[in-house]
Amino acid sequence: MNLAQTPLALAVATTSTTCPYCGVGCGVTASLKDDGRISVQGDAQHPANFGRLCVKGSALAETVDLDGRLLHPQVRDAQGALQQVSWDQALEQVASKFSAVIAEHGPDAVALYVSGQLLTEDYYIANKLMKGYIGSANIDTNSRLCMSSAVAGHKRAFGEDLVPVCYEDLELADLIVLVGSNAAWCHPILFQRIAKLKETRPALRLVVIDPRRTATCELADLHLPVKAGTDVWLFNGLMSYLAHRGLRDNAFIAAHTKGFEEALAVADAECADPATVARICKVDLQDLLAFYEAFAETEKVVTGFSMGVNQSSVGTDKVNSIINCHLATGRIGRPGMGPFSITGQPNAMGGREVGGLANMLAAHMDLDQPLHREIVQGFWQSPRIADKPGLKAVDMFRSIEEGRIKAVWIMATNPLVSLPDADLVQRALQKCELVVSSDVITQTDTNALAHVLLPALAWGEKDGTVTNSERRISRQRAFLTAPGEARGDWQIICEVARRMGFAGFDFDGPQAIFDEHARLSAYRNGEADAGGAQRARRVFNLSGLTGMDKAAYDAMAPIQWPVQRLSDGSISGTARVLEDHRFTHADGCARFVPTAPRTPGHAVCEDYPLILNTGRVRDHWHTMTRTGKSATLASHIPESFIDLHPQDALLYGVREGGLARISSRWGAMVARVQHGGGIPRGNVFVPIHWNGQSASDARVGAVVNPVVDPVSGEPEFKHTPVAIEEFRVGWHGFILTRHALDLDDITHWTRVQGRDFVRYELAGRNHISDHTAWARALLGVQADDADWLEYEDLSDGSYRAVHVVDDRIDMCLFMSARPDLPSRSWLAGLFAKDKLEEADRVGLLVGQPIEKGADAGPTVCSCFGVGRNTICNAIRAQGLTEVSQVTACVKAGGNCGSCVPEIKKLMVEIRVQGEAEARERETAA
Ligand code: SF4
Repeated sequence: MNLAQTPLALAVATTSTTCPYCGVGCGVTASLKDDGRISVQGDAQHPANFGRLCVKGSALAETVDLDGRLLHPQVRDAQGALQQVSWDQALEQVASKFSAVIAEHGPDAVALYVSGQLLTEDYYIANKLMKGYIGSANIDTNSRLCMSSAVAGHKRAFGEDLVPVCYEDLELADLIVLVGSNAAWCHPILFQRIAKLKETRPALRLVVIDPRRTATCELADLHLPVKAGTDVWLFNGLMSYLAHRGLRDNAFIAAHTKGFEEALAVADAECADPATVARICKVDLQDLLAFYEAFAETEKVVTGFSMGVNQSSVGTDKVNSIINCHLATGRIGRPGMGPFSITGQPNAMGGREVGGLANMLAAHMDLDQPLHREIVQGFWQSPRIADKPGLKAVDMFRSIEEGRIKAVWIMATNPLVSLPDADLVQRALQKCELVVSSDVITQTDTNALAHVLLPALAWGEKDGTVTNSERRISRQRAFLTAPGEARGDWQIICEVARRMGFAGFDFDGPQAIFDEHARLSAYRNGEADAGGAQRARRVFNLSGLTGMDKAAYDAMAPIQWPVQRLSDGSISGTARVLEDHRFTHADGCARFVPTAPRTPGHAVCEDYPLILNTGRVRDHWHTMTRTGKSATLASHIPESFIDLHPQDALLYGVREGGLARISSRWGAMVARVQHGGGIPRGNVFVPIHWNGQSASDARVGAVVNPVVDPVSGEPEFKHTPVAIEEFRVGWHGFILTRHALDLDDITHWTRVQGRDFVRYELAGRNHISDHTAWARALLGVQADDADWLEYEDLSDGSYRAVHVVDDRIDMCLFMSARPDLPSRSWLAGLFAKDKLEEADRVGLLVGQPIEKGADAGPTVCSCFGVGRNTICNAIRAQGLTEVSQVTACVKAGGNCGSCVPEIKKLMVEIRVQGEAEARERETAA
């Protein structure tokens, strides 16, 4: 970290706050070290993680520098160049243009597109402005892309968006089912809680349902590799199995639910025969029955589900097919059981509480209920209230592209990378009359098209609350001063609202906003309408958190909603909701939802014969604007990849290590082919993180199918029909350099941040006749600069050049006609040296390390920078069979534990390889 670029720490020794990444919502403590650097540790007092952090949380201190930060408001001039302006000018431009568009075209001609990265207070204000003052519900969030199907499923079943379970229920369960959830990589601390439990309680069983064999499967007792998109058949089959073997809870069904018979009839229609279900889902019948039996015989079952369920055009039905099984067995609202939506983002849940989705009102109330609209408008004393749902994310950008929405304000998100059919988003923003972006980073794909950039506070600087997957509200506290002119999102929104002439936005801090949010949650909560039905009752209720002064808000400990104030004045949260089995539907009953199985939106065809599945990798987050800064995190998977089955690679003429192009009806991208070993035939997997800033053409959002779930509006990120072909190039290469380079003329490139260097992976189609001149020009090294080592072999097209300055390696370039080039990890080690030794110089010319053990291999353990070769050598040399032994030997796996599944996989691979070699030796003997 460049200390000159580090924001100033506030004068508080240690600050308790919350990790800004996934929905686990781990507590962290940030403190200032003696050398002026920031240290981030797990908060031992926080109930989500009890002090543990995954690798992303552990590397947070590497991401708080000011490199690339947007520090001042900027407005694009007539020539398209961004110019720094005052806050007054920027805010005035936003407010006046929004007002003008509304006056001319009505409130639905403007939109806000916000984010699960916003704090609850920011979200609350954005939603209030849009729905209560502008009078449109055209506010949607990137949480639409990850968990809106869970919201819709909860609302259909329970009458309210309720997550019935808490993390403790995982510890109390005897069977945990994870559906479409690679928790080992995407919710690591939750996964590690499960892993620890399995060590101490071997009877606990884990079933993983996922088309891919992910790292999570390393811990599973049973992995069901279902065909992508067939989950509804699987869970309808389970419901049918339970119902016809006398395993349903008739008393619970009669007392607390409606619609069982209808839902069962639909489940029975196609899924009563397990053999049929196994055939459709493409799973082994015995494995399917083993799962059904385990679910049937185990009272305490938690079914955790995540993006593999939600991100589908049948996502809401998938959710309800899971909930149906819990309702049929009465396994809800009691310890150790229930359906569990594991949210993706740090504050997806907070956004839901304030109504940050286009089809919701604030405080868990509904746009389509006149009583709810009256309650919210009355509470806000607002001039109007939106009376119909706004446009959900995909439709919102389509509407911009069609010219119906003329001004959009994007906050804390990067839709040009993350939305499906991302090229349409690009066209939309290019056409839009006004694109405003509140962000912390200047250069993003989306910001490149914004007319106004508003500098927002980042994690560590902003102050407010977030809610995690188990409804736990935690404080995110500032421990750094606001850099430049950056402001909190809530402040920026309030400023614009005031300039648009709206009252109701005079807050003096996030505490005042939180108080209003808490009071709204309690306002007329439980009130009956004229017919006597309690249509205004919401389980979401923060009455116990109202009236906090600033000191109390600052000191607020993590707490799960609903929150009551007890007669002694203390406040009490709620670990588990629905314990009274009183659901929010007006009659108090839950609903079974008939879920007729449907195949996802588009099927494979001759032109697009493979199914594209997208998702996260272990060490990156979203579009990498934060994690991309960390050399620790970037070292695990340095470039985007296309994972597919080796036989499919053979069939379509692509090979491991080479580049391939994936295309769909919507767009194309390029990445490196790999065989991770977990992909079934007919499928490919590509990570979501790479974008126009980190690679020339690896934006997978451009390929993804924009079809959405008809109920939730969540897009189909897991099921896009695609074609794959070799991406032909004349040469491959890479550069490690201490200086950033401009590679616009290179056919394909990827940029990765290293600890002492930037790494570029390259591939080109141009013919290079004079490698020396070309390399010196590309690297910016003068022709007469003498400390330049190079080697060229025309017979195999290989070329190496190294620039040395003051005996230190400054840059190196390696090229070949083939993609198999020297080890980057070995070369990365040379950048850490103050002086190259003779053996290093020889190695650079030869293209491989001279000293044994100098190549640690690709990083497996990011925390300690331990490579694959180091781990494998230790396992082989010392016959290690336990992860703890590997940790004792080489440290890998000894901090956050995120790499433990990979270490286990390596041990299995080495054991299998050893057994095969032994058999060969026996045969030979
Ligand atoms: Fe952050 Fe990791 Fe905890 Fe998620 S699991 S909140 S990324 S530390």
